[in-house]
Amino acid sequence: MAKDNPVIELSGIKKSFVTGVGIIPVLKGISFKIYKGEFVAVMGPSGSGKSTCMNIVGCLDSATSGKFILDGKDVSAKTSDELAEIRNKKLGFVFQNFNLLGKRNLIDNVSLPLVYRGISKSARDEKAKKLLDRVGLKGFETYVPNQLSGGMKQRVAIARALVGDPEVILADEPTGNLDSKTSEEILELFKELNKKMNITIIMITHEEELARETSRIINIKDGMISYDGKSNKFRK
Ligand code: ADP
Ligand code: MG
Repeated sequence: MAKDNPVIELSGIKKSFVTGVGIIPVLKGISFKIYKGEFVAVMGPSGSGKSTCMNIVGCLDSATSGKFILDGKDVSAKTSDELAEIRNKKLGFVFQNFNLLGKRNLIDNVSLPLVYRGISKSARDEKAKKLLDRVGLKGFETYVPNQLSGGMKQRVAIARALVGDPEVILADEPTGNLDSKTSEEILELFKELNKKMNITIIMITHEEELARETSRIINIKDGMISYDGKSNKFRK
């Protein structure tokens, strides 16, 4: 691990939302560095700011103040168009609700992020097929998501997250809609991808047993980091 070159570096990130009842401070100064190949679990109570933080790391939203460096580039003050391009090139997303296109087959779902990159359809489809195989869905290429179980749908979403060769995969409660056995299987898949492909993964979860299987836990409480360290030493 090149300790001096983090993939992600947040310094003093603050985020407030302007609402009808006033300004609500949500993130109150978040700082951490994440290096290539890490598998990090982000924990914390509901409403503590986990998704807000991940939306900033995912270039889906901008911080109110603070500095965010992604893959060596300062993205703190980018326009939304610039953020969209960074997002497509460097990040892969996995969500609790899978976010698949229900009427399109699995090849189309997985290859979608490549459409914006000017890659030919045959090359896109070939890559999607390879990744579906990688996540254990060989033979299901022409199925549509509604024909699949929740765990299979999440595998499709993981293949889609991988298709653009991202620097980092961001997963927000990826097992939130899955039973405990399927959750464990999805976690095993993440662990395998992390180990064999050296993919950097940041996973939000409120399930402590799952978080403890990663190498590092960042716990957010009331908009601040209350723990950042080895998963096996984590105390709430
Ligand atoms: P978590 O993911 O840890 O459950 P969130 O980051 O989603 O928490 O939310 C943290 C707090 O910020 C919550 O109180 C939530 O209501 C508030 N919040 C999130 N997004 C917005 C928004 N767009 N406008 C106003 N408040 C928001
Ligand atoms: Mg959340």
